[in-house]
Amino acid sequence: MPQTVHTLSATVINDMKQFYADSSQTPPQGAVFRAKTGDAVITAYRSGKVLFQGSNPEAEAKKWAGETASAGKKSLPARKQAASSYHPPESLFASSHIGTDEAGTGDYFGPITVAGVYVEAEQIHQLKELGVKDSKHLTDARIRSIAKEIVKLELPYSLMVLPNNKYNQLQKKGWSQGKMKAMLHHHVIQKLMKKIDSLPLEGILIDQFCEPAVYKKHIAAEKESLAANTYFMTKAESYSIAVAAGSIIARTSFLKEMDKLSERLEISLPKGASQKVDQTIAKVIREHGRETLDSCAKVHFANSRKAEKYL
Ligand code: MN
Repeated sequence: MPQTVHTLSATVINDMKQFYADSSQTPPQGAVFRAKTGDAVITAYRSGKVLFQGSNPEAEAKKWAGETASAGKKSLPARKQAASSYHPPESLFASSHIGTDEAGTGDYFGPITVAGVYVEAEQIHQLKELGVKDSKHLTDARIRSIAKEIVKLELPYSLMVLPNNKYNQLQKKGWSQGKMKAMLHHHVIQKLMKKIDSLPLEGILIDQFCEPAVYKKHIAAEKESLAANTYFMTKAESYSIAVAAGSIIARTSFLKEMDKLSERLEISLPKGASQKVDQTIAKVIREHGRETLDSCAKVHFANSRKAEKYL
């Protein structure tokens, strides 16, 4: 069986884990997750090594390992992601477009936030000068300050925050996190398109968190459909300034919401889903009662169970 191995960052592995949530399988010993798609079995290990096996492992690997994926091997054009009508044309990045991204999805505490930003072709250069880029490469302090600059430029944007109690309610109703994200992105796009009205719009780029067909299925279940010229791409914030700006606004909103929750509980809530989170859950339960988690946490995460040993 053909296979390929890549070493990827923890952030990318976390994105992948969420991306493949709907097709996950029981991971083998020492693995972070395993997922089975149409053409590949993907296994990510704690060491950062990710194994892609199956009929066409390179196609799946390219989504995450980017340009290095086929480097050194034959002369496949590196960025030619699986030819799909949802992959944006190269020209989109230099045109007037909308970009959307989210934050908070892998964090036990705090809401999910999704933001969309509309950038006109003429503003792209200006935004680059501001230092707008992939928020994963920026510190939280820098992200907050760039967000202020973006807001000052008065670019049309829209933001949605899914509070924890609403998140937990939807989750209990049977919604996957993927469906929540799809609906949030969809509403953000709709609101933003109303705002920009008749301004030029070449397309909409969503930082891809699931297969486009799955996204369409999720929004169709709520009687919604994709706007014309909607594209999906993994790591879109590295190519589109609008997605990068969206990621900065979503992240800043998430940080602000975390500050508010921490203040309310008088406990500094950690980001992520590490062991430190488990200990903090125990503290929240001891000081405020179990029911408080509903309003500040994504209670279905395994952390809720792991916190028991600290009680
Ligand atoms: Mn993203």
